[in-house]
Amino acid sequence: MTRKDFLKSFAAAPVLSSAARAQAAAKPCPPWQPGGLDIHHISTGRGNSTLFITPDGTSMMVDAGATSASLQYTITPKPSGARRPGEWLGRYAQRHLRAAGRDEIDYFVLTHLHGDHMGDVTPDQPMSKLGGYRLTGVSDVAEIVPIRRILDRGYPDYTYPSKQSNGAALNYIEFVKTQQKHGAVAERFRAGSAQQIRLLRKPSEFSNFSVRNLAVNGEVWTGVGDTTRHHFPALETLKPEDYPSENMCCLALRLSYGAFDYYTGGDLPSGIHDGAPAWRDIESPVARVAGPVEVAVLNHHGYTDTTGADYVSSLRPRVFLLLAWDSAHPAISSLQRIYSQSLYPGPRDVFATALKAENKIANKGLANLKSDDGHILVRVAPGGQEFRILILDNTSESDLVKAEFGPYPCG
Ligand SMILES: [Zn+2]
Repeated sequence: MTRKDFLKSFAAAPVLSSAARAQAAAKPCPPWQPGGLDIHHISTGRGNSTLFITPDGTSMMVDAGATSASLQYTITPKPSGARRPGEWLGRYAQRHLRAAGRDEIDYFVLTHLHGDHMGDVTPDQPMSKLGGYRLTGVSDVAEIVPIRRILDRGYPDYTYPSKQSNGAALNYIEFVKTQQKHGAVAERFRAGSAQQIRLLRKPSEFSNFSVRNLAVNGEVWTGVGDTTRHHFPALETLKPEDYPSENMCCLALRLSYGAFDYYTGGDLPSGIHDGAPAWRDIESPVARVAGPVEVAVLNHHGYTDTTGADYVSSLRPRVFLLLAWDSAHPAISSLQRIYSQSLYPGPRDVFATALKAENKIANKGLANLKSDDGHILVRVAPGGQEFRILILDNTSESDLVKAEFGPYPCG
C-alpha cells in the first residue's frame, strides 16, 4: 500500500446528516472564490460538458455535447426541451462565470469529434449569424459566451486517421474556421505538453497549478519531460478498416492543483473485443502515465468497452464521476471494476450526472452511488489540500445545492 492509499483509507468522507442536507438544499450554489478550483460536470441528459474555473479565474470548458439520440435510450433533456442542449450549457457557463467576475471561456477543449461531445446536427437547428454552420453543442455555447482558444485533436486539417466526413464534424470544423476569423485561436492539442493550457491571469500566484496533456491520436506522454511515444502502429501498416476509431483518438489530460489531481479522457476505450490486437487498448497506457488521482472521470460514460482493470488500478481515485444519460451508461462490468477492492483497496465514492431508470433495474450495483441525478461540482479548496462534491439541481436554472459530500483530503 502506498502512502497515498494509506492516508486515503482513513479519509472516509462523512456524508452530511439529513438536517445538514436540508440546510444545504435551501441555498443556491455559493460562487467560485479566488484561489479555489471549481469543476462543474453539467447534466443536460444530452452529452458531456465540463466547466472549469481555475484558481486565478482562467476558464476552460471540456466538451459541449448535444446528442440527437432517441429518448427511447436516453433520459429526458434537462432542465427541459425548451432550449437546445448547447443553449443550456452556454447559459450555465455564463451564470457561473459571471458570478466569478468572468465573461469568456479562455479554453474550449474538444476530446473528439462526436455529437455527444460537440453537438450533433439536425435540420431544425438555426444557422449561426456568423457563418455556414448550425447552432448545436459548442457552437451554441459560443453564441452565449465568447470562446478565446479552441484545442482539439484534428486542427488544422482534420485528416488523422482519415478525413472527417460526417455532418456533425464538418459543422464543427466550419465553426472553428469562423471563430478564427473573428479572433479566436485554434490549435491542435499537443500530447506531453504542460504549457499549452496554462493560467492566463495570475500564474505566478499559483505555480502549484498545471494541466498535463496526456495523449491525443494515440500519442501518449512518457512521464519524462514533455516526451511522447506512438501507441498506434503507423497507418501505412494498417488496412483502412483497421484504423484507430474516433474514440481511440480522444485526447486526455490531468489537471493538478496542490495535492489535488483530476483525470479526464473523453471516450478512450480499452478495446475488449475478442481477438483485437493489444494496441487497440489505449485506455490502459494513458491511465498508467496519469498515475493516481483524487477524482477520475470514467472514460466513454462507463460503457462496456472501457473502464478496464488497468484504468481502475492506475488512477485509483477517491471519487469516480460518471457522465451519463443513456441506458447503457454504465456497463455492469465497469461498475463492478470501479468498486473492486482487488484492483485497489480503500473507500471510493461514485457520482453520476444522470441514470436511465432501465439501467438501474438491470444494474443493481447502481444503488451504491452517492448521487445519480444533477450537476456535479467538484470544489477544490484554495491551495488544493481538500475538496468537496456539491450536487446541483438540474431541473431548473436555480443551481440549488441538493447535497454536499466531503471534505475529502488530497494527496
Ligand atoms: Zn461519448
